[in-house]
Amino acid sequence: MKHLVLTLGLIVSVTSTSALAASKYCTDDGQQDGSDYLTLVSKEDGHKLKRSYAPNDLVSVPKDLTWNKSGSTEQLRKEVLNAFTAMTTAAKASDVTIKIYSGYRSFDQQCSTYASKFPKFKDQFKTEEQLALYVQSISAIPGRSEHQLGATFDLVYPSLGPTLSYPDIKERCPLNKCKEYEWLLNNAHNFGMAMSYPRYSKDLKVETNPITQYNFEPWHWRYVGVESATEIYKISQDIGRRLSVLEYAKYKKGLLTIDQLQNPETYLSKRVPQSVTQEIVIGMGGDISLSRPGTDKLEATGSSYNSFATWEQMTPGLKKMTAGNDLNFMNLESVISEQTNATMPAIDGKKWPQKSHPNGVEYLVNQVGFNMISSANNHSYDYDQKGIDETVTNLKRIKATATHPLYLSGVGTLEETAQPQVMEVNGLKIAFVAIGMKGDDRPDWEKKWRPTTATNGMLSVRMCSNGNIEKAMVPCPEYGDLKIVLENLKNTPADLRIVSIHEGMELSVYTKNGSTPDNDTAETKDGVQRQRSENRNIEAKIALIKSYGIDLVIGHHTHNVRPLSYNKKSFAAYSLGNLLFLGGKNYSTNEFPLWNRFGLFVKNYYSFVNGKLELAASQMIPTKNSHISPTFWDAPTANRYVDYLNAASKKSLGDEGIQYKSLNDGTAVYCVPGVEKGAKALALCPGQ
Ligand SMILES: [Zn+2]
Ligand SMILES: [Zn+2]
Repeated sequence: MKHLVLTLGLIVSVTSTSALAASKYCTDDGQQDGSDYLTLVSKEDGHKLKRSYAPNDLVSVPKDLTWNKSGSTEQLRKEVLNAFTAMTTAAKASDVTIKIYSGYRSFDQQCSTYASKFPKFKDQFKTEEQLALYVQSISAIPGRSEHQLGATFDLVYPSLGPTLSYPDIKERCPLNKCKEYEWLLNNAHNFGMAMSYPRYSKDLKVETNPITQYNFEPWHWRYVGVESATEIYKISQDIGRRLSVLEYAKYKKGLLTIDQLQNPETYLSKRVPQSVTQEIVIGMGGDISLSRPGTDKLEATGSSYNSFATWEQMTPGLKKMTAGNDLNFMNLESVISEQTNATMPAIDGKKWPQKSHPNGVEYLVNQVGFNMISSANNHSYDYDQKGIDETVTNLKRIKATATHPLYLSGVGTLEETAQPQVMEVNGLKIAFVAIGMKGDDRPDWEKKWRPTTATNGMLSVRMCSNGNIEKAMVPCPEYGDLKIVLENLKNTPADLRIVSIHEGMELSVYTKNGSTPDNDTAETKDGVQRQRSENRNIEAKIALIKSYGIDLVIGHHTHNVRPLSYNKKSFAAYSLGNLLFLGGKNYSTNEFPLWNRFGLFVKNYYSFVNGKLELAASQMIPTKNSHISPTFWDAPTANRYVDYLNAASKKSLGDEGIQYKSLNDGTAVYCVPGVEKGAKALALCPGQ
């Protein structure tokens, strides 16, 4: 069927004379007509719509009720649009705005979306069956999409702010931070609307709902009429969870009893899926500093390396790296303040004091999507106690006004620095703590700026050299405050635990103490940037962290990339190098040796299987232009850095050194064998 849009906005179905447009992937074997508002549309047998079914009363949704998607006209059935219009008017009276993102989709429209995925992912799967299963996890089979009913629509919730995306809605709505969704839960039934894909569990864990076989979709609503919607609302209150349209429709058709609605486990237990119920992606980059060392007066709208760049001009590459990740980590290697050197002088003897304008950090949080931040490092105290206090005040203000939850660890009071942050991602708990390091310039600084219950400061892995920095080479019994934060982290209930550690010998690659630097490769230019030997005991410190069963160790400080390891429990990046570091040099040129020419952004993909989060895949992105606007390398160059790092990881860490496989897009991937993958990890690790 094709549809003609008449000037009045009325849609009339006419028979297409062209050859069957549908692809071979879209089988026209559905039996159902969808005009009944309680039509069963699902992944189950018999719940498929005919290709020829299109509502005969579709009308265009006025533009002011839709989210401005360029060039698209959304359609709904007339009765549905009337109800929706009344609902938006009532919502507006409560200061709630809801907009339609997507309404009616014909079988053929769904087919072209669905069929387009097959060639796209074809090369990644060994069998047609695996490919089809994957495509069906990201796109509905034509005839099985409720959008063909013309009674269903996807909404946009504008209060979620500029980072709006469906993952945001999913993360934030179940946490009661989404006023539109809250309003709909309490009022939508009065306008005949109900949820097709509610949460199943009473806790906030998002999973495949065993009844609908879909994940939680807080944006997807369906019109069923006021009487049905009100009954759904009432039953939902009685049984203590939101009833889906599918269950209600089955109940009305005598296929389910009230008892079964109350105790779905009794009829579902045999087919509750054991597969991945949730996937969490954690992105991480290294050091951030947003001005040249010692700058007096910072600009509010951007910063200069050689010439001025706005925050926006500095971050298009970063936005690609952070997009779609649940968490994004960075190390703020800088004081956060707009004070000048007159009002906030650097400490005596500090080399390269670092300062960043709060607006730049705010931009990285709200516009680039960083939400897990360490401020614990050897530049946190560059401007003495005043600088530490400025950082704390500015970060707290940024957190209070952020468009998404923000987790900070590093500088603060003793309580704030010693206790982990507990982050919520789709109801799963992730605990995070950052520990810094003092004394690289002057050993007597090791014991300064320690936090108390009343004053801000930073906990440190070095406190035992007693003024002799060379003693930092000797393992001190507790590694400063490290055991304090590890004990606290171990005792914090969480599904995943993360430590950020700022330590290691600057400009050293290999991780063993006394390791031999490789300055003799053909690409190393003498006198420019000699690699150094590790002498800060980084391996022993990371081993201590691993002994606490920590899942993820994010290392930084050396301003170059170092090996990565995985031992089936702990993943450790020894150093991610510079991410966006105006305090450094433009290392991305042939003036510098290969090992120092790139930074690293890592994305770890975790599967929630059988009650725990497990690493399923890790992706690395070698970066360039960390001095002003980090971005991807071309694939051949990226591959060389991946090869270099693989060799360094192997040489340093043996079997635990991760070997990444280069892809053709400037990234590389490590797929953890034997761990079930969610959709995103599966796209990187096809067939595994
Ligand atoms: Zn939808
Ligand atoms: Zn550092």
